[in-house]
Amino acid sequence: MIYLDHNATAPLLPAAREAMLPWLGPPANPMAAHAAGRAAFAAVDRARAQVAALADWPATGVIFTGSATEANATVLATGRWACSAVEHPSVLAWCAHRLPVDAAGLVRLELPEGVDGLSVMAANNETGVLQPLEEVAAFCRARGLRLHVDASQVPGRLPLRIDADFVTLSAHKMGGPTGVGALLFREAPAPLLRGGPQERGLRAGSHAVAAIVGMGAAAAVAGTMAPDLRDRLEAALGGRVAGRGAPRLPNTLCVGFDGVEAEDLVIALDLEGVAVSVGSACASGSPRPSHVLRAMGFPGSAVRFSLGPASTAAEVDRVAELVPRLLERLCA
Ligand code: PLP
Repeated sequence: MIYLDHNATAPLLPAAREAMLPWLGPPANPMAAHAAGRAAFAAVDRARAQVAALADWPATGVIFTGSATEANATVLATGRWACSAVEHPSVLAWCAHRLPVDAAGLVRLELPEGVDGLSVMAANNETGVLQPLEEVAAFCRARGLRLHVDASQVPGRLPLRIDADFVTLSAHKMGGPTGVGALLFREAPAPLLRGGPQERGLRAGSHAVAAIVGMGAAAAVAGTMAPDLRDRLEAALGGRVAGRGAPRLPNTLCVGFDGVEAEDLVIALDLEGVAVSVGSACASGSPRPSHVLRAMGFPGSAVRFSLGPASTAAEVDRVAELVPRLLERLCA
């Protein structure tokens, strides 16, 4: 299989797998006072330091959650939040107001009265478009608004340096396991899950120690990607690129082709052993173009190719050779 769907989920990195294995068997409750508990506590704290180092953030401002979805909910469940119209559904679900984006997918800072926070993602999961976060942070500072940034798509692709009150991360987008995320904060949020002392009372529920250790290990080895292979694919495929003209993640290409439904191309590529998706995984299965493409006024549907650190030129060339043939067949 040629896997070009890393924005949906990335394969587990060997470093994460190795780090997790010792924690899959023994009892590991970091809240327990005995030696096994203390060892688990130390492992979680090491992972916390690794995630903090990735973001250049104080480790005291990092808690582990069950997912990026949960980290987003933890922040956005209290207060009245506005967000960009292209946020992940786990952010949109909580937002009282959606800010429009331009045709390139960049947020327009047209804020109504009566909101006390703004949630703007660092990088869009469908298009890879990077939001102008310095401008957004200055805007928030000038108005005394809190800023939340969902940065789930950044680690492993670009450096993670974000000036915000809250930052959301997801392990499985960076080569860690599913089932764990992290919330970075300057001031502690009100707990979403109550009823236990875990994570200093900020997130009740027993720690998934192996998953947390895996997230830490993935964070410790997360590098950055160059855009070369994505650019090579983009140049070879042609088509209408969503977010062209905006800064984008180096691994993401979201492209529509006249006269062909993205869904049909995704299925045709799947039959050839190439895994890609229609817009986001969350939007796929729906006959309508995703909310992201609609917010951008992008005509029609689009296929998302998202590369990973192990993607090769040979894989890209194979896809570049396949797609025109499949398009020809689908158009016929
Ligand atoms: N935020 C963004 C930008 C995402 O791309 C995703 C995953 O698709 C999520 C949040 C949700 O991540 P998780 O699966 O960890 O809940």
